[in-house]
Amino acid sequence: MRHVAIVGSGPAGYYTAETLQKADDIAVDVIDRLPVPYGLIRTGVAPDHQSIKAVSRRYEGTALTDNVRFVGHVSVGTDVTIDELVALYDAVILATGAPNDRPLDIPGADLPGVIGSAAFVGWYNGHPDFADLNPPLDAPGVVVIGNGNVALDVARILAKTPGEFAGSDIVAHARDALAQSAVRHIQILGRRGPHQIAMTPKELGELGHLERASPRVDPADLPPEGDDAMLEPGMRKSVTHLRSFTANPVAKPVTIDFDFFAMPIAIEGDGRVQRVIVERTTLDADLRSHGTGETYALDAGLVISCIGYQTPPIPGVPYEHGRGRFASDEGRILPGLYAVGWARRGPSGTIGTNKPDGARIGEMVLEDIGRGGGKAGRPGLDALLASRNVTPVTFRDWRRIEEAEVAAALDGRPREKFTSIETMLTALGR
Ligand code: NAP
Repeated sequence: MRHVAIVGSGPAGYYTAETLQKADDIAVDVIDRLPVPYGLIRTGVAPDHQSIKAVSRRYEGTALTDNVRFVGHVSVGTDVTIDELVALYDAVILATGAPNDRPLDIPGADLPGVIGSAAFVGWYNGHPDFADLNPPLDAPGVVVIGNGNVALDVARILAKTPGEFAGSDIVAHARDALAQSAVRHIQILGRRGPHQIAMTPKELGELGHLERASPRVDPADLPPEGDDAMLEPGMRKSVTHLRSFTANPVAKPVTIDFDFFAMPIAIEGDGRVQRVIVERTTLDADLRSHGTGETYALDAGLVISCIGYQTPPIPGVPYEHGRGRFASDEGRILPGLYAVGWARRGPSGTIGTNKPDGARIGEMVLEDIGRGGGKAGRPGLDALLASRNVTPVTFRDWRRIEEAEVAAALDGRPREKFTSIETMLTALGR
C-alpha cells in the first residue's frame, strides 16, 4: 500500500487527490485545519458566485471514493508536524494555497480601518479566522487597492443591496452589516492603466448591472480605441467594459470609480484611516509604473488592499520569499515533500488552473513513490493523533455540519454557514 498525505482541502488538494485515487493500492489522506473542506471554494470564491462554488460537488465525488479520506480539524504545525507526516507517508503534498495578504508597504498601512482582502473576503465568506473583523462601513468613502478580480469582488460586495444577495451564501453578520452600510463612493486604485488590468470580462461586466451602483471610468485614462486591437481577446473584452463605463451618468446612489495611474503612497488619519494619499503614475517602456510627483488625497473610512496573496512559510520547508510560495523544482520541494496549486505557483489563475496542476503533481508523485516504502500511513497518523487527544473531523462529520447549515438557512438561501469552529463542532455534538 502507498500512503499519500495532502495538506489542504481546497481545489489544488482535491484535484491532486482525484488523480491519485485512480491508482491501485493507494490511500490518500486530505488534511485540513478547519472542520470543513474545500478551502477557497468555501471561503474565497464570492458568495454571489454560486455557480463557481458548485465545483465542490466534483471534489465531493473524490472525497467519497474508498481510498480518499478527509482528516479535518487537524492543524499541521500544531497537532502534527511536517517532519512527522514525511516520516509516516510516502509523499506529503502541500496544497495550502496562499491565504495571507501581500503586505501593503506604505506609511499608515497599520491604521485601524486598513484591511487586507484575505481578511475582508474571509469575513463576508464566513472564515472562522475573520468572523470578528467588523470592518468600518460607517463612512461614505472606501478605497480598494489593486486591479485584479479580488478588487472587483470586494467592490461588488460593498455595492450590492440586500436584495442582490438573494440566492447567495453570504454570512449573516456581513449581510446585516452591509445592509446598514454608509458606503457611497468606492474608488478602485490601479497603479497602471486600463490595458494592464488583471480583471476578467465576466467579473467586470457584472459591475454594469448593479442595482444601486454605477461604475465610472475617466475617458482620459483610456488609450485610443485602435490600441485595443493588440490585446488578447479576453483582455480586449475587459477593456470594452471599461470603455462602456465612461458613458455612465451619476444616476445611482453608489459610485464605483476606477482610478488608473494612481499609486497609494501613504494612509493618514487620527486613530483610524481618514484619507489615502495617492501619487499619479506614468508607465515606462517595460510598462512598469513610476510616480510623477503629483499627489492628491481621497477620503476613506475603510481601505481594502487587494494586491495579491502569499503562502505562509513553514519552518524547515524551503521558501521563496520574493514570490511568497514554497521553493520547489516543478513541485518537488524535498524528498517526499511536494507543493501544488498556489503554494507551488503563487496566487494566479482561476480555480480550473489547479486541475492540470493537480493532475501533473499527482502523476509525478505516483512515479516517484513507485510501489511505496512500507510506511505507516493512515494507521500511523491515527495513533499519533490519538496519543495527542486530537479527534479529526471525518467527511461523514462534515456532511452533518453541512446538513445543519442547510437546515439553518432561511429565505431560499443555499446555507447559513457556521462562522466559528465551536459552532461546527457543536453540530457534531462535541
Ligand atoms: P492579481 O490578479 O495578482 O491582482 C493584483 C493587483 O494588485 C494587480 O492589479 C497589481 O498591479 C496590484 N498590486 C500589486 N502590488 C501593488 C501595490 N504595492 N500597490 C498597488 N497595487 C498593487 O491578484 P488578485 O486580485 O488577488 O487575484 C488572485 C487570483 O485569483 C487571480 O488569478 C484572480 O484572477 C483570481 N480570482 C479570480 C476570480 C474569478 O475568476 N471570479 C475572483 C477572485 C480572484 P500590477 O499589475 O501593477 O502589479
